Amino acid sequence: MEIEKMMLSVLRNLVFVTLIMGCKAAKAEEFNYNGVRGPSHWGDLKEEWKTCGQGRHQSPIDVIKRDIEIYPNLGKLHKSYKAANASLVNRGHYIMVRWAKGAGTIHVDGTNFTLRQCHWHSPAEHTIYGRRYPLEIHMVHQTEDNRTAVIGILYKYGRHDTFLAELMNQMSALSHEMEPEAEETLGIIDPKQIKLGSRKYYRYTGSLTTPPCTEGVIWIIVDKVRTVSRDQVRNLVMAVHDGFGRNARPTQSENGRIVELYTPRYGNSKNHN
Ligand SMILES: [Zn+2]
Repeated sequence: MEIEKMMLSVLRNLVFVTLIMGCKAAKAEEFNYNGVRGPSHWGDLKEEWKTCGQGRHQSPIDVIKRDIEIYPNLGKLHKSYKAANASLVNRGHYIMVRWAKGAGTIHVDGTNFTLRQCHWHSPAEHTIYGRRYPLEIHMVHQTEDNRTAVIGILYKYGRHDTFLAELMNQMSALSHEMEPEAEETLGIIDPKQIKLGSRKYYRYTGSLTTPPCTEGVIWIIVDKVRTVSRDQVRNLVMAVHDGFGRNARPTQSENGRIVELYTPRYGNSKNHN
């Protein structure tokens, strides 16, 4: 009798564990970057994701000269970031640094957008004149009524990136043990450590680059390619999307959208209207 009871309890636990693992696997596999759940199918996988397939203002895009217009009136980016408590979250396809209570703001079009999280894509999602760089960071800002502004910074191979260097130890140590949606405390992280490197930036209106691909997102792509070491990208890829290889959505049609370019030189010129 006792043995039977024990066996039953073991069996029950086994079923429970299998169920949990099943759920986690399903969550991580909701969408992917290749095959039947890859980017070209996202719009068909779920009703809530149909914008991924039907949207006309999707991201990322290839930033090319013919779509660019210089807009001095955009003005320089007003950032007022502050160090704040952060955690590391594994989203299955990327790992993000989340500031639950925000880490300061950027000021865009008369509105303050609070910095909520940053995450990386490898290779980069936005391309410049068709060129795809090895890495892109997205700094995601939101208003209380859920409007989104994202700053994207591109990286080529070269000297190591100091912000990633600081985070990397925690990342490689944690991510392998982290199940999707698991969250680990990082302590105080200062977003001012993420260097833009230029005041010039491109701006256009697009979408989230992952399902549900919601549109109306203000994209700000810094017009300066920064550097990251090959080791850092390799570690990030291993830690973040072990087995996936890449987490970049292909570029989407611009459908007549204009990319605005802000450069301080034009912005400061008295002769330029
Ligand atoms: Zn992103």
